[in-house]
Amino acid sequence: MTVRFVTLGCKLNFAESSALGRSLLAGGHTRAEDGEPADVCILNTCTVTDTADHKCRQALCRLRRENPDAVIVVTGCYAQLAADNLSKVPAPVTTKGWKDADYIVGNDEKFNIPELVAKISERVTERPVVLSTPIREVESFHGALSFSHVDSEDEEQHTTIADRSQRTRCFLKVQDGCNYFCTYCTIPYARGKSRNPHIAELVVEAQKAVTDGAKEIVLTGVNIADFGRSTGETFLELLQALDNMEGEYRLRIGSCEPNLLTTEIIDQVADSRHIAPHFHIPLQSGSNEVLQIMKRHYTRELFAERVAYIRKRLPYAFIGVDCMVGVRGETEAYFNDYLSFVEQLDVSQLHVFTYSERARTRMLEMDLPIVPTDERKRRSDILRRLSEQKTKAFYAANNNRELTVLWESRNAKGQMSGFSENYIRVVAAYDPEKVNTFQKITYHL
Ligand code: SF4
Repeated sequence: MTVRFVTLGCKLNFAESSALGRSLLAGGHTRAEDGEPADVCILNTCTVTDTADHKCRQALCRLRRENPDAVIVVTGCYAQLAADNLSKVPAPVTTKGWKDADYIVGNDEKFNIPELVAKISERVTERPVVLSTPIREVESFHGALSFSHVDSEDEEQHTTIADRSQRTRCFLKVQDGCNYFCTYCTIPYARGKSRNPHIAELVVEAQKAVTDGAKEIVLTGVNIADFGRSTGETFLELLQALDNMEGEYRLRIGSCEPNLLTTEIIDQVADSRHIAPHFHIPLQSGSNEVLQIMKRHYTRELFAERVAYIRKRLPYAFIGVDCMVGVRGETEAYFNDYLSFVEQLDVSQLHVFTYSERARTRMLEMDLPIVPTDERKRRSDILRRLSEQKTKAFYAANNNRELTVLWESRNAKGQMSGFSENYIRVVAAYDPEKVNTFQKITYHL
């Protein structure tokens, strides 16, 4: 079979698609690139926002248009949540987009897709076939490691996944699921409970990736600093173990909840030879009242302490902060309070998300004022402009500093690019000798 992948959403999805892609290639199937006809199309979806849902439906329509005779398998978080709807309520089956999926496969069953593909001989007549179990009952953890040719932090990554020759950076799934149930979020319903493999298994996998040539490993998961629920270990212990591998490599930590980002973890990063000074911390709101509405696990004072401690130990660290705007109950006064808090924060970038009302979330049961859509947009725009200023100031602070760049293999119009340890993107003339190597440079704006 020729198989085409389209992956939407986070790096975790990306890592899982890559693992599935490798498994399919090992099973004798071949990869169809964008635009090439495929026998089987696998769409790995996201449901983090309304927009994400919409993009999934669009991607499905596009796949069907481009591959009218292919078997289409839709999996991932949107499939997990939509599978419930599809099995109980027949109406969505006929809505535009979903009618053309052959299989809808939940997040746990996703890892059986290679076996499913092996059995596929023709399109099913009674579509869609739904293969999904209640995800909150799932205890198993499915590992995933991807090698990346995508060098952006974009929320959305469309790619045809497989084992690329490019091995500079890889994403290692260290954890899955979440037990937090923030009131606006559907992810615990789509990904299940927090779970993880043993540290020893992850070290073996990461060491193999480094031995195979990977120079940067990005640790991914849903709530990665919650690591250890299944094994009684801690995220700090995981970092210490991964910091002690052999070879020349760099580690990056994915998003860490602020209440779990302890001073010991920050110290480990600061004292490490391998862990990049790069933090991604979800704030979501800078108003304590709104944080309570969201049922987040910290106050803004704790958040500010964490940022101050990072700056004390690592003055030039990149600090990216997730900010949500326009949840129910976010009055103008709360937003202004949020804004003035974020203005004071010494961080490098804001990732701004506009709240959308999501089925199943507890926020829908809250009798709180709803922020009108155009006001949500206005607030998002304000934070996005603030983000631009912060990023500019961060780059300016790094001007003329010595940084270490890891060059990636993309040759785009005679140029190559790479990232510094503190996540500054640098571009230079393409030099194949330098690809996949670290180089000290003096950074100029
Ligand atoms: S921590 Fe909150 S926002 Fe993050 S995945 Fe868990 S429930 Fe969702």
